[in-house]
Amino acid sequence: MAEAATVAHHSRDLPNPPKIGGFVPFSSCDYPGELACVVFLAGCPWRCHYCHNPHLQARKQVPGVPVWAEILVWLEQRRGLLDAVVFCGGEPLAEKHLPAMLRDVQAMGFKAALHTGGAYPARLAHCLPYLDWVGFDVKTGFADYLQVTLVPRSGDPARTSLQQLIESGVAYECRTTIHPQLHDDAALLALTDTLAGLGVRDYALQRYRPQGVESALLGSNPLPAGYPAAETVAEIAGKFARFCVRND
Ligand code: SF4
Repeated sequence: MAEAATVAHHSRDLPNPPKIGGFVPFSSCDYPGELACVVFLAGCPWRCHYCHNPHLQARKQVPGVPVWAEILVWLEQRRGLLDAVVFCGGEPLAEKHLPAMLRDVQAMGFKAALHTGGAYPARLAHCLPYLDWVGFDVKTGFADYLQVTLVPRSGDPARTSLQQLIESGVAYECRTTIHPQLHDDAALLALTDTLAGLGVRDYALQRYRPQGVESALLGSNPLPAGYPAAETVAEIAGKFARFCVRND
């Protein structure tokens, strides 16, 4: 109920304002087919080996980054010039004001998008009515999330969130960042069986990039050639209506 009360107020006027960790004014690669700005929300309960934004794991406004009220003023001046606002992180669902922020962005005429791992399904449920598109990060098989996020049972909320997303009818893509230390070919085949069984139709494998990652487990080398095997990729491709492998 507290969440519903939050949505009733304009996100510009909220006490304890949203924690913004970064802001990119223009991006053409964070929401397929749309020119978007990207708002990085600070805070994440997980500690993935391959995290590129560890400075966004703490939930606090990053100095030198615009506050939300300033971003709203900026957006007012971009009506008709920008298609969408993408919220990423960190884990943007860690921001309790996110439903109100999404609602206000849509009310200004922008599409609203989210990049999430689904750590907080109850908050996702409040966000779904205000979302046009979601990029959903599936870390690995839901029983094995600890190996990637270092947080026990983190696959449980992720699975609940993905099921909610699928049932909502909001457009989405699932994606998995892959590394042979985390996902061998058999694990990728099992994971994609699970996703296809849940009804996922749009899926991407994202090859691990070592740049900016400090991980003793994953190291600083690019992925080996031949990972995953061509036959594995072909088999995965056959499970989804849309599929791609990304190098970044
Ligand atoms: S969920 Fe994202 S932000 Fe959080 S630790 Fe993992 S990669 Fe980093």
